[in-house]
Formats: sequence, structure tokens, C-alpha cells
Amino acid sequence: MSGKTILVWFRNDLRIHDNEILLEATRKADKILPVFCFDPFYFSPSNYGLQKTGSIRARFLLESVADLRLQLRSLGGELLIANGDPADLIPRLAQQYQVSEVYHHREVAAQETAISEAVETALWKIKLNLRHFIGHTLYHKEDLPFPIKDIPDSFALFKKKIERDSNVRPCFETPTCIKTPEITDPGSLPTLAELGINLPLDDPRADFSYLGGETTALQQMHRYIQSLDNSNQTKNSKNQAENPSRLSAWISLGCLSQRMVYHEALKHTLGTSASGSTLINELLWRDYFRFMFKKYGSQFFNAEGFKGVAPEAACNQQYLFEQWTLGHTGIPYIDAAMHELNATGYISNFKRQAVAAFLVNDLKVEWLKGAAYFEEKLIDYSPASNWGNWAFIAGVANDTRDDRFFPGAKQSAKLETASDFISTWLPDVSGQLAIV
Ligand SMILES: Cc1cc2nc3c(=O)[nH]c(=O)nc-3n(C[C@H](O)[C@H](O)[C@H](O)COP(=O)(O)OP(=O)(O)OC[C@H]3O[C@@H](n4cnc5c(N)ncnc54)[C@H](O)[C@@H]3O)c2cc1C
Repeated sequence: MSGKTILVWFRNDLRIHDNEILLEATRKADKILPVFCFDPFYFSPSNYGLQKTGSIRARFLLESVADLRLQLRSLGGELLIANGDPADLIPRLAQQYQVSEVYHHREVAAQETAISEAVETALWKIKLNLRHFIGHTLYHKEDLPFPIKDIPDSFALFKKKIERDSNVRPCFETPTCIKTPEITDPGSLPTLAELGINLPLDDPRADFSYLGGETTALQQMHRYIQSLDNSNQTKNSKNQAENPSRLSAWISLGCLSQRMVYHEALKHTLGTSASGSTLINELLWRDYFRFMFKKYGSQFFNAEGFKGVAPEAACNQQYLFEQWTLGHTGIPYIDAAMHELNATGYISNFKRQAVAAFLVNDLKVEWLKGAAYFEEKLIDYSPASNWGNWAFIAGVANDTRDDRFFPGAKQSAKLETASDFISTWLPDVSGQLAIV
């Protein structure tokens, strides 16, 4: 090595464990410059008058970046935090710190890949290379038993073949020491107000409290897997649905690697096979949607999806949509789930399916509106998981035969709920939450 510096561009991989770009950079360069950009794009309006990032996820992101900085400092390094468009910032920092290469993890959804393409083009103009790594899936793309274009559309077939003919790679080591160049201004974490986001109100009815970052991600993973061990729940899908891991928010930001969850879960399945573990099965759904996005690109963002025709739409769309978002549909189960989503940023997979199916099948509102609403509200928003699941529920996905998905119209009225979220709670004049 000869005084080489590599810029490691953190995006949705906010961790030091099992992070190939970080490890590879420490092996290839004397110094590394870890950078995270708060890109205004993600804090701007999306469609239908919604925000791309709501307050609950924005706070979780700030906590996660703060924790990443602490993790890097514990290894002797520093995280440079910048505010602005990565296509401006990354080349500027690369020149300032005389970087010889930039590393990042490749994304799959259209907006995310457009951002890295813009960075790549800008770097190219100053004769620097953006090196792409694959690090967001359980199974590595290179290890799939089929080329991307031949990945089975059926989840069942995808799962069968991948588990039979492929293996999950071991986790990467965590670097023991990181040297960053002399950083004149490492930058500070923006406040929510600086990002144009309101402070979220913590609802006292929430039964789980999230704190962003790798430290809490690892704690939650160990706590959850230990609890499975104690009750032997990995073998029982009903228990998994009733007692979900809550890991998705950390996985979506990359505070936790799916691969680590897999290997930890496997250690604790006490002799049962990988495929016997429900947690691992759930993680495979995440891989499935990501690979479907790789295979089909932007098709998951069209109202008509793969069917050539969009689902039937009511004429008073906007009114019905607003009633749904507010939890004012008159169906207790749906309303309670929407209140819970608005208050906490999380609802279980079953509730997501129920409210999505109700919006599409009963209210006949365009599913893209619902998906955009989830994009704003979910603490664990991830493009492929969100738009992929929505397309399936709307019946416009590439494989809609899976019986995992919610049955459809008029089912929700039969669902009973004892949720604490049946009523709406709003802040009173003193800022406390009050029931209305
Ligand atoms: C309409 C709709 C929208 C969704 N949007 C998102 C989203 O934006 N981000 C997101 O992470 N998940 C999304 N999901 C998938 C799923 O609901 C959540 O991943 C899960 O509820 C998260 O809770 P958990 O971590 O406790 O899950 P667990 O049940 O404990 O599952 C473990 C992990 O498996 C993965 N997983 C489980 N179910 C699915 C699934 N159906 N699709 C993809 N991955 C899955 C997640 O990474 C999850 O953390 C959506 C589902 C629906 C029906």
C-alpha cells in the first residue's frame, strides 16, 4: 500500500460488522474516508402530497448514523457527515482527500440506482472509479443457481431451488482498526428541523421502542433469537406471526446484515434445517423481492404492474384514501391498524396485508397511493419489500398465486381487534397525547 485512500460511501449499510466495502477498503488502502450524505431528495415531497420520509423513520436514521459514527470511532476512525446531493459531495470530498477509489453497495430500485449513476458519472469526470459491491441480500447474486433473468417468479420455486442449490456465504470479519485521513470538519448530525421534519410524538400505547443503530440492532437480534430458543418458536410459523422479530427497521437501513441474522438463527435452530426456520423463511421473502426488482426493474412501480391493466378504481379516490390514512373507515380492525401505523411506524405483516387489501379491494383506491403512504410512514421502509408486497396484494405482480397473501375484499369486517389503537390519540394543548 502506498498512501492510498478509499472513500467508503455509506448508504443503507450503516454497520461495521459483515460489511464487505468497509473490510475491503481497509485491506486495499492505508486510509479510508467513511462518508454519509443526508440527501435532501429523501426529505422532499413524494407523490400525492406525501413525504418520502416521515418523522419516525427520519429519527431512526439519525440515531443509526450517530451510532455508526461511534462504531467507527471505536475502531480509531471517523465518519464524515455531509448534507447535500451525493453527486456533488462525493466527487468534491474525493478530490479534497485525494481519494483513489470510491466503494459503495449497489441498490436495486430506480431512484436509488439513479443516485449512484449520477455519482458514478460525476466521479468519472474526475477520472475516479465507483466500485459497486453486492451486500444487501442473504444469498449472493453470484451464487444463485440461475441467471437473474431466469429467477423463478414463483416464491415457492425460488425458495426450493435456492435452498437446494446455493449456500449463504459466511459473514465478513469486522475490521479491527480504521485509519482515516486528517479530517478538518467531520460535520455534525443535522437536526430533524434542519431536515424539514417534525419531531415525532411517542405514543404511550406502543408496545415496542425502537432506537436506531447497529448497537441496538445486534441486541434485538440476540434477544429475539434467544427467545426463540427458549420457546422453540423457529419451528412454528403461527408463533412467528404473533411474535415478530421487529428486525426489519434495522435490516432496511443495513444496521444489521441479513446474513448475520441467518447464521445466528441457524446456530439456534437446534438441529432443525435452515428451511425449517420460519425466521429464515421470512428473510427469503426479502431476498425474493430484491431479486425480482433486479429482474424486472421499474415494472413494480406501475399501476398495471405485470397485468397490463390496473385494478378497478373508485371515482372519489382522494376522499377514500384520506379516510383510510386517518383510520376513519369504520372497520375497527383496519382503523386500529392505521392508527398504530401512524403512531409507531410499524404494523405486523398481517396488518399490512389487511390494510393494503382493504384499500385496494374494498375502497378501490389506486394501490400506488397506499404504497406511497407506507413509504412515508413505515420505520422499516425498503423499496423492493414495500412496492413488491403492494403489487402482490393489488394482484398486479408477476406471481399472484401464493396463498400467503390476504384473501381480498370484504374480509376485514370479519377480523376482530382488541388493539389499544382503536381510538385516535392526538396531542392536547400541553403536547401530551389525549384520546379523541
Ligand atoms: C403492503 C406491505 C408493505 C411492506 N413494506 C415493507 C417495507 O417497506 N419494508 C420491509 O422491511 N418490509 C415490508 N413488508 C414486509 C413485512 O411486512 C415486514 O418486513 C415485517 O412485517 C417486518 O416485521 P419483522 O421484522 O418483525 O418481521 P418478521 O416476521 O420477524 O420477519 C423477519 C424479517 O423477514 C423479512 N420479511 C418478513 N416478511 C416479509 C415480506 N412479506 N416481504 C419482505 N420481507 C419480509 C423482513 O426483513 C423481516 O425483518 C411489507 C409487507 C406488506 C404486506
